[in-house]
Amino acid sequence: MTTPHLTLKSTFGFDKFRPGQDEIIAEIMAGRNVLAVMPTGAGKSLCYQVPALLFDRVSVVISPLVALMDNQVAGLRANGVEVACIHSGQSRDTNIAQWRRVVSGEAKLLYLSPERLMSPRMMAAMTRLSPAMFVIDEAHCVSKWGPAFRPEYAQLEQLKTEFPDAIIAAFTATADSATRDDIANILFNGKGQIIIHGFDRPNLSLAINAKTDRKLQLTRFMENMRGQSGIVYALSRKNTEEFAAHLVAAGHKALPYHAGLDAQLRFDTQERFMAEDGMVIVATIAFGMGIDKPDIRFVYHTNLPSSLEAYYQEIGRAGRDGDAAVTALCYGLDDVRMRRQFIMNDGAGSDHQNRELRRLDALLSYCEASTCRRQVMLAYFGEDAKPCGNCDNCETPPEMIDATQPLQHILTTIKDTGARFGQAHIIAVARGADTERIRQFGHQNTKGYGKAKAIGSPYLQGLIRQALASGHIAMDIERFGALTITPKGQAVLSGHATYACKVIAATKTRQRAAHQHSKITAKKTLSERDAELLSRLKAKRMDIARSLGKPAFIVFSDATLIDMAQKRPDNPDAMLDVSGVGTVKYEKFGPAFLELINSRD
Ligand code: ADP
Ligand code: MG
Ligand code: ZN
Repeated sequence: MTTPHLTLKSTFGFDKFRPGQDEIIAEIMAGRNVLAVMPTGAGKSLCYQVPALLFDRVSVVISPLVALMDNQVAGLRANGVEVACIHSGQSRDTNIAQWRRVVSGEAKLLYLSPERLMSPRMMAAMTRLSPAMFVIDEAHCVSKWGPAFRPEYAQLEQLKTEFPDAIIAAFTATADSATRDDIANILFNGKGQIIIHGFDRPNLSLAINAKTDRKLQLTRFMENMRGQSGIVYALSRKNTEEFAAHLVAAGHKALPYHAGLDAQLRFDTQERFMAEDGMVIVATIAFGMGIDKPDIRFVYHTNLPSSLEAYYQEIGRAGRDGDAAVTALCYGLDDVRMRRQFIMNDGAGSDHQNRELRRLDALLSYCEASTCRRQVMLAYFGEDAKPCGNCDNCETPPEMIDATQPLQHILTTIKDTGARFGQAHIIAVARGADTERIRQFGHQNTKGYGKAKAIGSPYLQGLIRQALASGHIAMDIERFGALTITPKGQAVLSGHATYACKVIAATKTRQRAAHQHSKITAKKTLSERDAELLSRLKAKRMDIARSLGKPAFIVFSDATLIDMAQKRPDNPDAMLDVSGVGTVKYEKFGPAFLELINSRD
């Protein structure tokens, strides 16, 4: 009889489960529903793939993206797992052939999009098939409370009544506690376990920088990352191309990636990123989903992401191998305004808008936090933590100073100009600038005009960001980002309350990145000799992948090649001992790699 543990070794080639995996698998094997919340890269797929292989009847996996399904299916097939997949990107004939393999019992797993599953014909067919389990991947799409609600996913609520005997196993990397309860209710009336595991990624350093000059800040950051693989996120297609060109000019190996590029070019770019060392991708968020590269050493955001959930998912792509990785986010008030604008333009119901606005506020509070960032982040996901020692605030605790008077200058200016202007104009008035706009509105005659003359613009920008995060100032998007005064701000303005803020330093980026770099190089794990073998193993992988016309990860993951380079197996048993080498992959690729390792030494 096989067990989860034996399946893990023989099929996937892994020796042990990661934290959380065994617990989730035990729940499923005991026939209970679960909602598992684990961060990206934690290994959610195995949690349902292992039980699915042990069940007699088929398991149906619902996944929102064709690309994600294809990756999963290709990965499973490479391990010799019989799996079927039906989606609109395939011909009708292919889909029919796939369905036959399910009905015949050949395939233990069937990957489907939610709309396919919920079609009346498919539901009828499913009833005859009586699946052992329904797996809902990216389950946050079920909830209207989640950041990425999908109407097709909402229909999955019928599964619990249509298939009362089937186990429901749902997985997501991003759900706050209200969303988790909502998902569990929708999918299984709350009758099942919610298992939250391992949000902390201690090897990721966290840092936030105030935006001054985006290109310059990026260049400085990258100076310390030379030769490392990483992702730089930008918001617009134009920016990805601009920044990539800029990095290439500075001597980095960088490529842009966005949804507007030709599909083949996107595929090639992704392949190069997977296969080559030291490649930097400058991408919109279209890049990264389903990417499984263990040695991404940094993720750098040139803009504010949409929420903490999105941010954590994006930075979570770094350092999957457990070695130190650097993350940094560069943002300014114009980002906040743009994000707010996106939310308001979304046109969804006002409930949705309010939730998204609250999410943005949470992100902003995180950015302006003066305590350990990891604590703030983990608290948001419902986990307690001690100060981490691996974030900018832990390493250089921000000094708090009294800023009552400067804030009063700003508030006075907001008030006297009718709370109708954005930060640029407010700062210009407070600093006593001479602009056409000021003259046009006669703002040189307001009480606050020039009161903050002695204070630099970057300081005032930082002050306004903090006051926004602390709820002393609000931003009115319907009036183009006009700053307004909240009751809390009113109290400071009238002298009934004081205001303290972080000292605003513009030079933090550079010191921080340099410091992080020393950490990364210090943690380098491979000896020169192993690294040399690793690059030959990678070349071999590339050859094999090319000859098969498949992406490189189908052969072996980077983590597997690294383990192989270190263990230097010289016989079949030793090769099977390498993490990620299961029996089927051993048969397919083992001899070729053994030969390479033993060819010269
Ligand atoms: P998630 O869906 O949680 O983002 P995946 O299921 O894609 O993560 O897994 C991420 C990576 O971790 C994959 O390369 C997978 O092979 C690897 N992995 C999963 N479980 C284990 C394990 N027990 N031991 C070693 N590697 C594992
Ligand atoms: Mg996944
Ligand atoms: Zn910290």
